Amino acid sequence: MGFRVATDFDGGALGPIESLTENRLRAAIPRDWDQDRFNTQATWYYFRLDGLAGRPAEVVLTGLGSVYNGRPSPGGIIQDDQPVVSDDQRTWRKLTAATFDEAARTYTIPLEPTGDRLWVAALEPYVAADLESLRLEVQGHPELRVETCGRSVEGRPIELWSIGAEEAATSAWVIARQHAWETHTSFCMEGLVRWLLSDEAREVRRRCVFKLLPLVDPDGVVAGASRFNRLGYDTNRHWDETEPGNPEHRRLRPEICAAKEPLLAWLAGGRQVALHLNLHDTQVDYMAAVPALSAHPVLRGVYQRLCEARFSGPLRLGDSLSGTAQVALYHELGIPAALIELGTARLPTYGDFPTAADRVRFGADLGRAIAATV
Ligand SMILES: [Zn+2]
Repeated sequence: MGFRVATDFDGGALGPIESLTENRLRAAIPRDWDQDRFNTQATWYYFRLDGLAGRPAEVVLTGLGSVYNGRPSPGGIIQDDQPVVSDDQRTWRKLTAATFDEAARTYTIPLEPTGDRLWVAALEPYVAADLESLRLEVQGHPELRVETCGRSVEGRPIELWSIGAEEAATSAWVIARQHAWETHTSFCMEGLVRWLLSDEAREVRRRCVFKLLPLVDPDGVVAGASRFNRLGYDTNRHWDETEPGNPEHRRLRPEICAAKEPLLAWLAGGRQVALHLNLHDTQVDYMAAVPALSAHPVLRGVYQRLCEARFSGPLRLGDSLSGTAQVALYHELGIPAALIELGTARLPTYGDFPTAADRVRFGADLGRAIAATV
């Protein structure tokens, strides 16, 4: 009797299963496609193995490779990636022995379980229930307001968290989980929320209100998706062609509408936006903005302070991805906007793979960097 595979929990994703023998599972990583079946990505997997009986086992993941911005890419999973495993779905540890075979497009994970059951995931999972736990813990804070600013393709609420004095002179906007697999952005957001509600942030809360969308694509997070919304739209593209007032745009890309609408209302009310950040994960750290913002004092200031913390990547300047939040918000609305990629591979400033706890701490550093600059 060999082991069994389960994915019947939020974020669970694996398959189809190609073969399952006594101690070896071979299965594809679920593949996400965009609306034109043109771009595709296979990054996220999260499953439980039962019946391991403490015996060594091996998982071979197949179907790797992506098409990113119209070009074939090995991305999604590469040798720099390593999975995390857990005995209880709460405490996760990083493996280091998984191997990537580029020619065969397989990723082999050797497992040495001590018990009968093991959870395996691409990164430490963070699902809606984790955000709900955070909300229940902090909801009594007098300077936190949580509202629903839209609904996803499948009707799930998308939340806008406001922290600080609503009448403050300016605002800072941060959004996470546009791409469902990028769980470290959620840990960063949790660290940011905790810091913003701390006594250390008392002063900045008076002069800047923080507008946070912690979970832009709740459907993708439940489904265990990699990148696209449930109708195939990449939620960090199409910002230049999405009007929240347009019924067809609301139907196809409600997540982008939910992220744009409160921002447009804020600006229509004559309010200031000091910066807008969209958080992502990829293998390495970097920040990206349009060239016109290369010397912008707020973006430069935040970037430099993050580098003084443990951020290890460049500030990349580019205009070409016109549909991304950071490019579209600048060109359409003149907002100083940037993307921040949080690296998931071994990083020089960590000397190792950053953990979820590292990303919670980075969220506090992000709060301090914004507070020192806006
Ligand atoms: Zn992303």
